[in-house]
Amino acid sequence: MTMKAGVVYAVNDLRVSEVPKPVPKQDEVLVKVQYCGVCGSDSARVYGTALYHYPTVIGHEFAGVVVEDAQGELVGKKVAIFPLLPCFACEECARKSYVTCKNYDYYGSRRDGGFAEYIAVKRWNLIILPDDMDCKLGAMCEPVSIAKHASDRLQISGGENVLVTGAGPIGILVGLWLKKKGVKQVYYTDLDARKLVVAKEIGFADYAETGGLAMDCAVEGTGCSAPLETCLQAVKAGGQLVCLGNPHADIALSRNAYWCILRKELTVRGTWNSSYNDIVNDWKASIQAIANGEIQPAFLISHVYPLDKINDAFEMIKGKQEFYSKVLIDCGVEA
Ligand SMILES: [Zn+2]
Ligand SMILES: [Zn+2]
Repeated sequence: MTMKAGVVYAVNDLRVSEVPKPVPKQDEVLVKVQYCGVCGSDSARVYGTALYHYPTVIGHEFAGVVVEDAQGELVGKKVAIFPLLPCFACEECARKSYVTCKNYDYYGSRRDGGFAEYIAVKRWNLIILPDDMDCKLGAMCEPVSIAKHASDRLQISGGENVLVTGAGPIGILVGLWLKKKGVKQVYYTDLDARKLVVAKEIGFADYAETGGLAMDCAVEGTGCSAPLETCLQAVKAGGQLVCLGNPHADIALSRNAYWCILRKELTVRGTWNSSYNDIVNDWKASIQAIANGEIQPAFLISHVYPLDKINDAFEMIKGKQEFYSKVLIDCGVEA
C-alpha cells in the first residue's frame, strides 16, 4: 500500500510522491491527516539545510482522524499531535521538561511528518480533540500552544501594556493569550503594514503610533536584532522581556540597548516550544480555549492548498507574492 506525501529529497527539491503507507507499531496508531500547517521553520527545511537527512516528509502542525488502533479504542477520534518525541532517559525528561530533552526526535524534521495522507503516531503524542472540532483548528493547536507557552513566560497580574515585535500568526496568538490574561493593550511592530492592519482589526494597536509609549513587558517575536533593541528600549524599569523568535542570523545589540538590561534591571526569559506533561499541558489548555471560544485562531488561516499543490504553497510563501498569515495543507483523502 502506498500514499501521497510531500517529501523533501534535497535542498530545493520538495515533491509530492507515492511512498509506502506507514504501518503502526504496537505503541502507535495510524492517523489519517486532515490538515497540516506550514510553519515558518519549514521553509528552511525545503530551501535551506535545516533537515537532518533525506528524504524526509516534513510538516509538524497537523491534525487528523485515527483510522487504525491495535487497542481499538481510538478509531474515529479526531486528534492533534504533539510533534516532539522525548528520549525519556535524560535529566530534562526526568523532570518532565520534554521540550528541553537532550536527545529528542521530532515528527516532520528528524522523522517523517504530517504533509502526508497518513502517519503512524505514538499514542503518547496524541491529544484527543472534541468530536465537533474542525481539524483545521486542530492543526492550529501547535501555534496556539507555542503562543500560550510564550505568554506564560511573562508574569502578568492585569492591566499591563505589552509590546510584541512581529505580527505574524504566533505574535498575534501571543496577543490573544495576553488579552485573556487581562493585559490592558498589546502593541505590535512589523515591517509588513498589512500585518499591522490585521492586528488593529482585532483590537490591538500599532506601536509606531504611540510615540514611544513605555511598556510593562515585551515579547520579541522576530529573531532579529533591531526589534530586540526596540523591545529593550521600550520596556520600563523592572519590566520583563521574553525572547520567542528564532534567530535568522547572529544577534547584535548596541551598547545602549545592552545598558537597558542592566540599568532598568530587566528580567529576560527565553521560551521554547510548549509544555506537554501531566503538570502543565499547553496543548490541552489550548484545545480547551479553542473549544470554548476563548481563543479563536480561525481568522489567521489565510490559505488552504491541497497536498498535490504543496509546492505552490511554499513558492507563494517564499516569493511573498500574496499577503498570507497561516497556510494550511489539506491532506484529507477519502476514508
Ligand atoms: Zn512550527
Ligand atoms: Zn530526554
